Amino acid sequence: MKQILVTRSSMPSFEEYADEIKELWDTHWLTNMGVKHKQFQKKLCEYLKVNNIELLTNGHMALELTLQAMELSGEVITTPYTFASTTHAIVRNGLTPVFCDIKPDDYTIDADKIEALITDKTSAILPVHVYGNICEIEKIEKLAEKYNLKVVYDAAHTFGETYKGIGVGNFGDASIFSFHATKVFNTIEGGAVCFKDEKYSAKIYDLKNFGIHGPETVSGIGANAKMNEFCAAMGLCNLRHIDDEIAARKKIYDKYCELLADVKGVCIPSAQKDVKNNYAYFPVVFDEDKFGKSRDEVAEELLSEGIFARKYFYPITSAFDCYKDRFNPLDTPIAYDVSKRVLTLPIYGELGEENAEKICRIILK
Ligand SMILES: *Cc1c(COP(=O)(O)O)cnc(C)c1O
Repeated sequence: MKQILVTRSSMPSFEEYADEIKELWDTHWLTNMGVKHKQFQKKLCEYLKVNNIELLTNGHMALELTLQAMELSGEVITTPYTFASTTHAIVRNGLTPVFCDIKPDDYTIDADKIEALITDKTSAILPVHVYGNICEIEKIEKLAEKYNLKVVYDAAHTFGETYKGIGVGNFGDASIFSFHATKVFNTIEGGAVCFKDEKYSAKIYDLKNFGIHGPETVSGIGANAKMNEFCAAMGLCNLRHIDDEIAARKKIYDKYCELLADVKGVCIPSAQKDVKNNYAYFPVVFDEDKFGKSRDEVAEELLSEGIFARKYFYPITSAFDCYKDRFNPLDTPIAYDVSKRVLTLPIYGELGEENAEKICRIILK
């Protein structure tokens, strides 16, 4: 049986990539901010409509080192309805995550519930533009100003998106992106961060390159999280096709919407106002009482037909084994509830509308 995975990495043709990396055999310059790195950095700034961007080995290191660069302390208000990386980055910085619940309509952090969680220990807010849904940026910005907090967006899901025409990387004090193989845009592995205040670009550079400033000068206690030339070259290639990839995803997304829109007990995403979407995910939330089947039953039925949908995000991060007895997942009842009922359907440019139709047929059966 032909399997359908939840996503499939987009790749350029072999010839295009081979052409892109050819000169590396002349220069033997494989990493450490070489030619490909510089070209990719410049092209990304243009595409993402941002003033600055630092490239890193992956999205997680971009986030972890960004939190370190901001010299945060105490508590960080965040969402448990996310990938492990978001919460781990906070904890691995010696900070305490304080979990705020999400909105039931778009699954982003509920900005109206943040203020009640702010204490004299709070130093930052770390919201996630989950599934490509943009958070309540204006409300979060107001709170951050009122209480003098930093805002770092986990924008891993929002590559290429704009809000009111502004590149999503421009919001907050920093926004991080992931270019992992499973994301809308990939560099095999890779990540990046954009800062409002460019002084942080120098800091993150230090943190990703051992704090080395010259052959005999090491002035920071940095880690190593540089993007290499082969990943940057993959990025240069994939960037040429990203608009086609997003357009192809939109077709799948629209097909799902069309076929699942009026199904009782099935909640599908709705378009956000002022947002240019990248169609990264297609989350479906099942109401067992109305639909007649549970999320787990639907997932199993799909699996029996070779289709790998994902329970993304289940469990929520506050329910992870590694955080047992440390957090209470019931502190965020909406996130907890949604996580038990959500299934993200396969979506990628090459999936094809026939496969989207097949998946819907199985769900509706
Ligand atoms: C993928 C992802 C990350 C981490 O990115 P990597 O490039 O895989 O390290 C962080 N946050 C969210 C929400 C993600 O989906």
